[in-house]
Amino acid sequence: MDITRRQWALASVAAAASCDSGGDSAPSADGPDNPVAPAPRHVIDLHCDTPMLLRGGSYDLGARNTRGQVDIPRMREGGVTGVFFAVYTSPVRNTELESVQLALEIIDATRREVSRFPDELALVTSSGEIEAATRSGRIAIVLGVEGGHMINSSLGVLRTLYELGARYLTLTHSKDTPWAGSSGSDANLGLSDFGRSVIQEMNRLGMLVDISHVSDQTFWDVLDTSAAPIIASHSSARALAGHKRNMTDEMIRAMADKGGVMHINYYNVFLDDAYAARSSAWNRANPDTGAGDGDARTRAKLAAIGRPPLDTLLDHFDHAIQIAGIESVGLGSDFDGVDGELPEGMEDISQVPNIADGLAKRNYSQDEIDKVLGLNSLRILREVESAAKAGQPA
Ligand SMILES: [Zn+2]
Repeated sequence: MDITRRQWALASVAAAASCDSGGDSAPSADGPDNPVAPAPRHVIDLHCDTPMLLRGGSYDLGARNTRGQVDIPRMREGGVTGVFFAVYTSPVRNTELESVQLALEIIDATRREVSRFPDELALVTSSGEIEAATRSGRIAIVLGVEGGHMINSSLGVLRTLYELGARYLTLTHSKDTPWAGSSGSDANLGLSDFGRSVIQEMNRLGMLVDISHVSDQTFWDVLDTSAAPIIASHSSARALAGHKRNMTDEMIRAMADKGGVMHINYYNVFLDDAYAARSSAWNRANPDTGAGDGDARTRAKLAAIGRPPLDTLLDHFDHAIQIAGIESVGLGSDFDGVDGELPEGMEDISQVPNIADGLAKRNYSQDEIDKVLGLNSLRILREVESAAKAGQPA
């Protein structure tokens, strides 16, 4: 597995380097001037919670860190070419108005940190810019906002977050907003009229509508309302693990039928019911006082209850592909958002090639694997951008 993985990562780096456009953001010439340049592989993760590490100012994206799951050295090692950095504030600990300020501070911290590495990273806002960054050998960073509470029921705030670079909004986190139901509440609320206007405004702007975290009723209301295909930025399959955060086969199929893409979440609790039961039992026996070292706590927990094998994660990819089709599945790790509770062989972003290897062993072709690794995500972003353009008056 190591040899395959190393060759794979090297091929990815070589493909990007061979198309180096000299560090500017304009697309390089892929035409008659450069007819033999191979198309660079796109490996795009739709959901990493890294920005909240950056807000503290003590996490260096340029270093190979011993905490967290994402930094430049590990993204390079994993052959990763693009990551959506999710901006998150707690809807439980903060009011919506406080969340607006915190979101701005997290965006500011992320922009400042990314701008320290102009040769390595490019903060981008469109499918075309993602492709240009990849051609120039830089990792594309796109902002997403994880939770509708951060717009404080204001389309003005939504539009401003878009202007600051946010290209998706996850409609809820684990708590209902005044306009959309969350899977974290038992009420199974749907979208309100204002919620529908949020979706319409996102369609108009060309922003990805993200249904991860929403209630089942809100999912169906969103699917009904959105004029453009929608995404789950980080959700797994409920047929394999019963958590309400996961999608039923009916949802997976309906979203794919409308061109949507389900990005698979790697969090053990969403992958494996037996792990989830062990995790709850361990948490009850070891209440978190918030005082100790979180990393040490996670290590102790994982040592006690074990990690699921990588195959458990691959089963979710396999299942989603069987239900949704190969065009409608992508990567949505949830790295830096799940306290390191990740499967064996997927402990951080350097290990993404293990997904490619695992799918190859399950007889998927390289073309099919490339779709899952990034092409499907690029495709849906492109479609949402064109739908926005088509909806605008000439
Ligand atoms: Zn999440």
